[in-house]
Amino acid sequence: MKPFLLYSDGEGHIFEDTSLYATGRSGWDAVAVPGDEWIMLPEGGQLYELPGRRGIGIDVQTGEMRLCEKGWAVAAFIPPAHTGFYVAAYETLPEAPTLPLFCYTATGWHNNKFYVPAVRIEDDIRQDCSGYDKQKVKAGTAHLLQHYPHNRLVKHLAENCALTYECPAARNYFLGRWECPIPSSPACNANCIGCISFQPEEEGIISSQDRLTFRPTVEEIVEYTVPHLETAPFPVVSFGQGCEGEPLLMWQTIRDAIIEIRKHTKKGSININTNGSMPEAVEALMKAGLDSIRVSMNSTRENIYNAYYRPNNYTFENIIESIRAVRKYGGWASINYFVFPGMTDNIEEYEALRNLIRDTGLNMIQWRNFNIDPDWYLGRIGITDCGECMGIKQLMESIHEEFPTLKFGYYNPPMERIKGDFEKNYAH
Ligand code: SF4
Repeated sequence: MKPFLLYSDGEGHIFEDTSLYATGRSGWDAVAVPGDEWIMLPEGGQLYELPGRRGIGIDVQTGEMRLCEKGWAVAAFIPPAHTGFYVAAYETLPEAPTLPLFCYTATGWHNNKFYVPAVRIEDDIRQDCSGYDKQKVKAGTAHLLQHYPHNRLVKHLAENCALTYECPAARNYFLGRWECPIPSSPACNANCIGCISFQPEEEGIISSQDRLTFRPTVEEIVEYTVPHLETAPFPVVSFGQGCEGEPLLMWQTIRDAIIEIRKHTKKGSININTNGSMPEAVEALMKAGLDSIRVSMNSTRENIYNAYYRPNNYTFENIIESIRAVRKYGGWASINYFVFPGMTDNIEEYEALRNLIRDTGLNMIQWRNFNIDPDWYLGRIGITDCGECMGIKQLMESIHEEFPTLKFGYYNPPMERIKGDFEKNYAH
């Protein structure tokens, strides 16, 4: 299949250019996308016009690559549970603004439909957009705000997360199902270039959500999470959310909350999404009853990691130790792997990823689309040449072949999947 390139008129109208086939981008290079890597744009996907950028296509007559001068380039935001194989390919004009913190997957037009080079990597339907009824979410927030009138966390999750940011996890909490968020930390010990909860004034973009401004108490955490673990299907409660800093900076409160939660219920999984910076704290949380960890990383190469995370007082080795600590106590360990075509499928990255899997006994890779302006990211981490790459699809196949028990997905698994049949026990 060879979809046609898409362009916009700069006023939100999108057209196909039947003189050009769509291409993809890997690192700094526009490339032809193999025909079998295109899928229809999944429900919940969105299209973006990219101001100040000209799409790169393949001339249907000559087979040469050239720019589309008819309008601005177009990219797709693919919905959760799907991983993109290529970024949108375009040439950026000097005055172009930095793009906000979303993913910009390649897209094209074929048989009157939008297509993207991607794969559904996760069968769990917990964040499928068709599953959200706005009225039910609203009713759920009203009900639980009344039920917990003095709980600042429930107020934050309702007014900010569910009703303003439309956070899928917060909305699921107010619908009484699956994974429930527990933001806890107003501070962070990293300075990620693309931080989604804090962007310095001087940066040309804003953060996707505002960072939490208070430190919740153990009581506030326990009050709403125990009933969720007791009543929700496939229950997971997760510390470490997009609307906060680094949860490990609050490890004593989290430890005490886990101990208190487990006094009331043995149900469900207690997870932490973290940058993994403090292995001693992780060990203390495992002793307290933590069940799983998800460590976020843009790369398994220390130099690429440090260039993006700009850590304060921790090292790449610390995050490896944190994963090992969870495995030592029999916990479930995932990485939240920010997939960037041209970086993630680089040969050195592949070798580093293999080493990490071997060295830590990792259980799962959550293949997440990197929500960042591609030019800005590569520029800020100083990458001018991405070197030899194997393709994201090939990378996934090679890792799966070598590590057949390593799970692929997009979400933190419930206990039913961790302890039971991983291929069956999830929300569907
Ligand atoms: S670890 Fe999270 S909160 Fe901290 S700077 Fe990075 S993205 Fe932001």
